[in-house]
Amino acid sequence: MSAEFPTLAETVIATNRKHGFNGGGEHMFGRYVEHCMCGWRSTFEHRTYDDHIAAAVESAWHAGRTITSTDQLDALPDGSVILCASDEEVNRRTSKRDGRAEWWTPGSDQGVPTTEHLVPALLLWHPRWSKP
Ligand SMILES: [Zn+2]
Repeated sequence: MSAEFPTLAETVIATNRKHGFNGGGEHMFGRYVEHCMCGWRSTFEHRTYDDHIAAAVESAWHAGRTITSTDQLDALPDGSVILCASDEEVNRRTSKRDGRAEWWTPGSDQGVPTTEHLVPALLLWHPRWSKP
């Protein structure tokens, strides 16, 4: 597992460890109520345990990829791709000769250095994720 940014598989595993189908469920008021070990129970919106786990994985995956500091950006390897919340632009990281980060949006002919305007951001791609 990378220091800060887990893979999707790592996120699924970690989420499954926090949750668990707690003996299924029970019939209540004419419907079947499913339980999770975290305390979740299905609601009248007929959400199933699978819906619950899908939402939990989605939430954990988003949280695990959220970048909130320029230090985190600078620590990313070249080839990382982020989506900036402020302008909703995608940026790909490269390094200048001196090793400082430079961020490129598609179609631009000039990279920008790491600055506060890039955070918060969502990590869309980490080069480590291409290796199973
Ligand atoms: Zn749960």
